[in-house]
Amino acid sequence: MRVNIFTSVLLILLLIPMSVAEEPDSLPASETYPEKIVKTLQGITFDSDYDNGSLQDVIEAGENVFNCTIYTEQGELGSSIYWFRFKMTSVAGRIITLNIYHSQNPLPVIRVNDGGWRRMTDAEAPSLSKLVLSFAADEDHAELAFFFPSGYDETYQQVGDLVRRCDMASTESIGLSYMGRSMWMATITDSHVADTNKHRIWMHSRTHAGEATGTHVMLGFLNLVTSNSPAGRYMRRHFIFNIVPLLNVDGVYLGYTRWDSQGIDPEQQWGNPSRIPETANLRAKVDEFMDGSHPIEVALNLHSTYINYADTFFYKHVYSSVTTAFEAIEQRYIDALDHATPLFDNLNPQTSQLHPYCYIESYFWNNWGESVMAMTHEGHFFHRLPDNLWITNEDYKDIGAAMAMALIEYFNLPPIGEESPPTSWMIY
Ligand SMILES: [Zn+2]
Repeated sequence: MRVNIFTSVLLILLLIPMSVAEEPDSLPASETYPEKIVKTLQGITFDSDYDNGSLQDVIEAGENVFNCTIYTEQGELGSSIYWFRFKMTSVAGRIITLNIYHSQNPLPVIRVNDGGWRRMTDAEAPSLSKLVLSFAADEDHAELAFFFPSGYDETYQQVGDLVRRCDMASTESIGLSYMGRSMWMATITDSHVADTNKHRIWMHSRTHAGEATGTHVMLGFLNLVTSNSPAGRYMRRHFIFNIVPLLNVDGVYLGYTRWDSQGIDPEQQWGNPSRIPETANLRAKVDEFMDGSHPIEVALNLHSTYINYADTFFYKHVYSSVTTAFEAIEQRYIDALDHATPLFDNLNPQTSQLHPYCYIESYFWNNWGESVMAMTHEGHFFHRLPDNLWITNEDYKDIGAAMAMALIEYFNLPPIGEESPPTSWMIY
C-alpha cells in the first residue's frame, strides 16, 4: 500500500513539471488572477481573461451604467495601478457609462468591432473617472485599454513580421520567464559586410509591464533597421542590433502595471538577478556580447512615465556617479535624437545619480565604464511635440525610428548615400 501511494505520487511529480514546461500559456486558470474576469451584466459581457487583459471587477450602477475596479498590483516595493484592458460584447445600440479610474491617461483608447485602436474623444472621456461610449446598431463589440496596448503574443507577432521580411534579421530564444514563458531577442545586421567597423547596439523594453510606449518605440526602431530602404540598408551595414522586445513577459501577459509575476521590480535586479530569471536572461546575453569581439557600445532601456511631461526624456546620469566625460557622451546621443525628429526637443531633461548596482546602466558603468553609453528613455501618455496633439503609438514608432537615425550623428558616420564605395567593406 505505501509503495503504491509512493509510486503514484512519484509519477505525478514526474509528469506535472513536463506538462507545465511544455505549455507555458496553459497557466493557472483565471480564478488565480483577480484581474482576469469574465462577467455578464445587463446582457453585456465584460472579459479581461486573455493576453494583457486586466479588470478586477465590474458591477451595475444603473441602466447601462457600470462601476469598474481596475487591478491594484501589490509588489515588494508597494502598490501600482493604472493598466486596464478588457472587451465588451453585445454593446450595439447602447450608450454605456463606465465609472473607471484613468487619471494617469485622460483619454484612454478604444477599438470597435476589431477595428484599429484610437484615442477616445473628450466626449467619450468627460472626466478622469468616467467614460461614456455610444455604439451604433452595427457596433457589436469593443475593446478598451489604458493606452495603445501590445500584449505578449501581439508584440512577438509584430516583431516576427518585421524580422521575417528582412533576410538580415533573425530571432533566438534567450530563456524562459519565472512562469515559463519564452523570451526572445532579435538580431539584425548585414551579414555581407564584415563586422570589423560595426557598432553593437542593445535595446530592450517592457521591463515594467504597463509601459507600452516602450514597445512602440522598439517597434519603430525595429521597423527602420529591418526596412528595405536606403536608411535600413545603411543601418545594417554599420551596426549590429540586439533587441529584446519584452523583459517582463509574465507581467505583460497578466495585464500588470509595473511589477513581475512575483511582485518584484525587474528593473532593480541587475546587481544580483538570482531571484528573477527574466533579468538574468538579459544579463547573460549582455555578458556574452561584452566578452566578444564587438561589445555593446549603446544600450537603450525603454520605459514610460505616468507623469504629464511636455516631452519624452532620458535619465542622464551625472557626476559624481559617473564622470563628466560620460555626461558629455550621454548628451551627445540626446542631442542626436533631438536633431533626428521634431517629436523630441529635450524639453524635460532629467538627471540622476546612477545607483551603485540596481540598474542595467549601473551594470554597464561598473564593468565597462565610458565604453557603453547606456540610458533609460521614458515616454508618457499625454501630448506630443510639436503640435500638442494627444500622442499615439504611431508617434512613438516615429521616435523609435529617430533613435536609430540618431546613431549616425552619435557615431559621426557619413550621411546616408555619402559612404565610401560599398566594395571597400563588402565580403567576397
Ligand atoms: Zn519603467
